[in-house]
Amino acid sequence: MNIAELVRYWARWRPGHTAVITDDVRTSWAEFDARSDAIARGLRAAGVVKGDRVGMHLDNRIEAPLLTVACLKLGAMIVPLNFKLTASEILPLLEDADCKLVVTQAKHLGRLELAAAKLPFKIYSLDGSDVPGFSSLLIDSGPAPVEAIGLNDAGFLCYTSGTTGRQKGALLTHGGAMYPGLAKNIAEGLTWRDSIMVAVPFVFTGAIVSCFIQFAVNAGGTMVLESDFDIDRYLDVIQRHRVSAATTVPVVWERLMRSPGFDKADLSSMISAAAGGAPVSVDLIEAYRAKGISLIQSYGLTEASGLAATMHGEDAIAHIGWAGRPIVGSEMKIGDADGNALANGEIGEIMVRGPHVMREYWRNPEATAATFAGDWLRTGDTGMMNDEGFVKVVDRSKDMIISGGINVYPAEIEKILSANPHVPELAVIGVPDSDWGEVPMIVASGVKDEGAALSAFECDGSAQLAPFKRPRRVVFIDEPLPRTLSGKISKPTLRGLFPAVPE
Ligand code: AMP
Ligand code: MG
Repeated sequence: MNIAELVRYWARWRPGHTAVITDDVRTSWAEFDARSDAIARGLRAAGVVKGDRVGMHLDNRIEAPLLTVACLKLGAMIVPLNFKLTASEILPLLEDADCKLVVTQAKHLGRLELAAAKLPFKIYSLDGSDVPGFSSLLIDSGPAPVEAIGLNDAGFLCYTSGTTGRQKGALLTHGGAMYPGLAKNIAEGLTWRDSIMVAVPFVFTGAIVSCFIQFAVNAGGTMVLESDFDIDRYLDVIQRHRVSAATTVPVVWERLMRSPGFDKADLSSMISAAAGGAPVSVDLIEAYRAKGISLIQSYGLTEASGLAATMHGEDAIAHIGWAGRPIVGSEMKIGDADGNALANGEIGEIMVRGPHVMREYWRNPEATAATFAGDWLRTGDTGMMNDEGFVKVVDRSKDMIISGGINVYPAEIEKILSANPHVPELAVIGVPDSDWGEVPMIVASGVKDEGAALSAFECDGSAQLAPFKRPRRVVFIDEPLPRTLSGKISKPTLRGLFPAVPE
């Protein structure tokens, strides 16, 4: 059993049913299977074998899920690459993943040039003529590539930043990636008749694993893959395609709620509206409830194949502020510094154990050892559990900002902006923002020439940081930054000084 088998299964037994809708074009499971076979043959001809890594640097187009399944059919690992990352951000990631080839598009090609100059991977592009075309990866005839792949074989290498700024590749297996979806389909009763809307970049773990594999492939349902991230279109798409499920970050639900057609929209097709990745507010839950939709709070992380805890819809209102219960077949506990379980109601580190937990951080045994306590995954999040088994995320022990649902790590920004000669010391913290949830803000201390500091921030930021990581605000202070006894900048103190953007 493996993910490729599921695709073949739906192609055989419900060949005409729609697998994916992109820009209103439908691709059936039979076509999906045949087209991913063609890519798999082409990848094999290009030298890709079981265990190899293939980079995916693509917008939300049909080729993204096709390439993913083609890799999985060969037992290769798909490496989703965020196309918003700058050339210098993507380089260490490609060095680490050691991909045999990367599939991209002409408009993203420039971001790969720095890495391509240093590393031996081949590039194929969906369009343009500077590098070999994607069509040269398509071999339409010949036997379907069938590999011996088990549930424990590697399928995905999903990069997640860390507080140290170094990107770590979470290695997810076929079985691990399928698992939360089985649990979700059991909990919410999703079937092949349902369709899930993916309205975030497909390269995010929450889309490629949590929506595509977990729901669409497991259940043989339909994925509606939105290409232009246009909130105003979503209401229309939900109604037109009778979308029944969506998993996205609270900010997207919030913007959808504020969009003009919301009050009149018929959202009765929605049976599973999940909000995860960040805390969900009371107002948001109530606004959707007024439309007959229970927003399902959930908690997950890449290292647990995207999902660890979820509510049943009927529990959502009574447990606002809580993130749900561990998914079926998995366990969670709140651990002390040594990983020993604390009593209910006590605050400690959220720990997760189960078949969905990653195997390891790719080629990073130190980080892997530091993240596991036996078979328990340390999430780095602080939380508690109550007597009924609900889990609450209290704080993040890791220094992280969630902006527009995307994790942003201050350490990474600080490293780049600290090169600024006009700034003796700086730190980056998150401040509340009505559009993005939180945005990064620079606190710079002891600056003599503020104008020069600002233009250097601007220049380094736009050259080296993806747009979602660029600080939106800067404050200058005269006193030194607050530090802990050991001399590290104290982020909790700093956040306390700037609970909001100063006027
Ligand atoms: P990622 O590994 O990029 O998928 O991000 C996972 C992180 O998002 C978790 O480790 C948490 O810090 C945060 N997160 C996820 N779900 C929630 C939630 N329901 N409430 C608060 N933070 C969350
Ligand atoms: Mg993470």
